[in-house]
Amino acid sequence: MKDKNIIIAIDGHSSTGKSTVAKQLAKALGYIYVDTGAMYRAVSLYAMRKNFINEFTFDKEALEQDLPAINITFEMNPEKGLAEVLLNGENVEHIIRTLAVSKHVSKIAAISKVRKKLVEQQQKMGVNKGIVMDGRDIGTVVFPDAELKLFMTATAKDRAERRFIELKERGEDVTYEAVLKNVVNRDHIDSTRKDSPLRKAEDAIKIDNSNLTLQEQFDHILQIAKTAISENVV
Ligand code: C5P
Repeated sequence: MKDKNIIIAIDGHSSTGKSTVAKQLAKALGYIYVDTGAMYRAVSLYAMRKNFINEFTFDKEALEQDLPAINITFEMNPEKGLAEVLLNGENVEHIIRTLAVSKHVSKIAAISKVRKKLVEQQQKMGVNKGIVMDGRDIGTVVFPDAELKLFMTATAKDRAERRFIELKERGEDVTYEAVLKNVVNRDHIDSTRKDSPLRKAEDAIKIDNSNLTLQEQFDHILQIAKTAISENVV
């Protein structure tokens, strides 16, 4: 008997630490990690640079027309041992994490044609399994048959505090209020959009990490993952 590679789908609200735990899990299990939020962020950056979206306008059709010209790929950063996102060959891993991109990304992610393009790409990345993918619709749309689904949440206050510290550490000039507003706003748009709204898959395990340390959360989730893997032997 041999353990079978599985798909681990991690969804949840903004800034719940999905990517932190997904990276830890992938490393511990020797799986590939895919950050789907980075893909939506890279498309948003493209739209911002083309001025399809800014504070005042949003030209959805122009972006839809340009979709064939947008190429999102991942490249391994050997120092970090993690894949970084490329937009038409340019490494945009850092710039896509700014609050400026966060402000527009949920509007971009609500466009069905954008979702269709990225979901197809994500499904191809999972054909060989052995993957941890995080996002908003992984357990509901991208991999509805994933062997393990987690849904992460925490209070908006806890999430905004963590994201605020993270952005400050990266040198961004932001206020806590602006970060909280963005977290709440993104959750609202993500949960109420027509196409693939953020929701917990019925068979997902809910993890509220408001009162968990990173280590406690990781230990708990690794245990769940090991159990799921042991139930999928070939
Ligand atoms: O995960 P992250 O916070 O980087 O995602 C940024 C945004 O991308 C989310 O707020 C959401 O609007 C969108 N997203 C999505 N579906 C995914 C991943 C991210 O709609 N699978």
